[in-house]
Amino acid sequence: MGYCKFCEKAPVETWFGSFCSDCRKIKNLGNVYGFERTLSILTKCCIRDEDQLERKIMSHKKLPTIPEETDESYEKPKTRKSK
Ligand SMILES: [Zn+2]
Repeated sequence: MGYCKFCEKAPVETWFGSFCSDCRKIKNLGNVYGFERTLSILTKCCIRDEDQLERKIMSHKKLPTIPEETDESYEKPKTRKSK
């Protein structure tokens, strides 16, 4: 059996097939929703431009703010067993 013509990694589904099972699913999505729409969705969802990447990186760099004051009204739960 040969390898998938799309991903070129996985073996084909059937002896005379051209695609592996995963790529067949991608092709079926294209057949149902149209290849232009499928490509548009993949491009919008999977490909990030420089601005989008920078914003994502900055959002991860921001440290969470921890309040300095502790809440004095907190009482330990009385229902738990003490060890
Ligand atoms: Zn494939």
